[in-house]
Amino acid sequence: MNTISVSLPSGSYEIHVGRGLFPRIQDQLHTAGLREPFVLISQPRILKAVGYTRKRHFITATVPDGERAKTLANVGRVIDVLVRTKMTRQSTVVALGGGVVGDVAAFAASIYMRGIAVVHVPTTLLAQLDSSIGGKTAVNHPVAKNLIGTFHQPRLVISDPELLRTLPKREYTSGLYEALKCGVIMDAGLFDDFGHRIGALLARDAETVEWLVARCAGIKANVVMSDEREAGQRRILNFGHTVGHALEAAGKFQRLKHGEAVGYGMIAATRIAASLRLLSDGDQDRIEKAVAAIGPLPRIDGFDTRRIFEALERDKKTRDGAVHFVLPRAIGRVEITPDVPMTVVRRIVQGLLDESSRTN
Ligand code: NAD
Repeated sequence: MNTISVSLPSGSYEIHVGRGLFPRIQDQLHTAGLREPFVLISQPRILKAVGYTRKRHFITATVPDGERAKTLANVGRVIDVLVRTKMTRQSTVVALGGGVVGDVAAFAASIYMRGIAVVHVPTTLLAQLDSSIGGKTAVNHPVAKNLIGTFHQPRLVISDPELLRTLPKREYTSGLYEALKCGVIMDAGLFDDFGHRIGALLARDAETVEWLVARCAGIKANVVMSDEREAGQRRILNFGHTVGHALEAAGKFQRLKHGEAVGYGMIAATRIAASLRLLSDGDQDRIEKAVAAIGPLPRIDGFDTRRIFEALERDKKTRDGAVHFVLPRAIGRVEITPDVPMTVVRRIVQGLLDESSRTN
């Protein structure tokens, strides 16, 4: 088992990463000083996939599947369960699931009685290496994703890579793009190892997956410790997200998984950096090949370019009138730049759409 410590002014916690931790979850909770009653929040599909039987020590409630479940109404339903089961300030919410369950359950925990403990037990690759760490919680508003939320650090994160065995293939590979992102932004060694181990990762070799989750969780923890509230350094985690979000929105959050959109976004940011002479051609080539090695990205030809640029414009309005790009300067090093000419962005996004129509 790997243990990563996150130490923050708002509270410190440990992230345990290890095969076989999930069956021993109760011991882990007790060792962390947490006591019954626990309320476990999950999704029916996940409870079935992980073979969870409703245990005496866990009051269990579910939220619906999919991004559409991230609503204030579902947060209200979770709070209703906490009220009905008479949870107190000492109670703990256990979020067993991917980013959707994590966001809804942690948001509810953050506002019930002004905040009770939440423990994340992430069941998707994305949640194990990213969303369970750092304390961001959010639900969606009809006008924008993740518009309503809080910062609420978990008391413990228990990541068992065995839980990923039942994850649908597309959900799993989607998480691999996010993992590659960690290498590009901060860790050239991880980037190289990722390339060497891509076969074992695609085959979900348990030991290799555990290595990847621990390594990426360590990177995310370090970034969060240096900037808990995303005032500066933490924004580097948004590498690939500017164009990625715009593509996700243009596909109405149905055509692309989040990680796939980030895959495209990383290629776009890499090409922008190379075209502004901020990145060598050699490193551009290596990053693009690493993205391609994960597998072909879904088609994006036919995406409405107007929608893509509307989304980029919205991004601009929410950030002091400039689209902020996280651009790679070398593998393992990125910088945030607010002054990328939109003509360059347009050319590169159009190039991605054209390529998609030619190659698929
Ligand atoms: P998800 O939570 O929707 O899970 C994907 C699908 O896989 C769902 O259908 C789920 O039921 C299923 N599933 C999950 N675990 C499974 C398992 N072990 N076996 C079988 N099926 C399983 O998707 P996600 O990619 O984990 O999360 C995406 C969400 O995370 C987005 O809403 C995004 O905004 C959010 N997010 C939050 C943060 C944060 O810091 N809070 C960071 C990144 C992303």
